Amino acid sequence: MIVLKTSREFSKMRDAGRISAQALQVAGEAIKPGVSTLEIDTVVRKFIEKQGAVPSFLGYGGFPASACISVNNVVIHGIPHKSHILKDGDIVSIDVGAYYEGFHGDNAYTFPCGKISAEAQALLDATKESLFKGIEQAVAGNRIGDIGNAVQKYVEARSYSVVRDFVGHGVGAKLHEDPSVPNYGTPGRGVRLMPGMTIAIEPMVNQGGHAVKVLDDDWTTVTTDGKLSAHFEHSVAITPDGPVILTLPD
Ligand code: MG
Repeated sequence: MIVLKTSREFSKMRDAGRISAQALQVAGEAIKPGVSTLEIDTVVRKFIEKQGAVPSFLGYGGFPASACISVNNVVIHGIPHKSHILKDGDIVSIDVGAYYEGFHGDNAYTFPCGKISAEAQALLDATKESLFKGIEQAVAGNRIGDIGNAVQKYVEARSYSVVRDFVGHGVGAKLHEDPSVPNYGTPGRGVRLMPGMTIAIEPMVNQGGHAVKVLDDDWTTVTTDGKLSAHFEHSVAITPDGPVILTLPD
């Protein structure tokens, strides 16, 4: 069931989104060679709690941390750990959400750690841009397939691939709501977008093939071919005036 939000609820979601976006910034500032992924998670959790919010991911489905921290060939759902020390040249995807006054924000960004290769930077640039290609299509009257197709076309034109096994989603009072928002699709197909919908658009883009696998911890999702993967996400409201990004830091 798709839950439509009122403009009052949009503004609450913008508050949750602002905290989520600021938490992502704080995480990005903490990334440097020699730091553990658990240290970054702790910084994120403390920041969110200081805002009077709750980390959306902590305990969600049993997830043991406040942020998913996914390094290099890890696509999503990386579990922070004190023994995982970041190295110069890593790419670090942080996915974080905050629950505040009844609503969730959800956003992700892949940060460079130290100096990264030109190939890695190109993957980050393309994935980030593909998110905005998707957001441009998040217009009332369009369909979910228009978003996915815009992401997929942009990504595949650069010889990367979009992950199929995990997709974006509605977001609101629940972290994951209907509809699903794939990063692939056919224009004009799927659920019609209506004012009041709030969705998380989140391209996961692989340097190699689109296949992924989940490791034995039941969370960590890696590229099957071991190549790099990047992930960018915003929570977005569909309004009569076009898409509004809810996860902005100010
Ligand atoms: Mg999400």
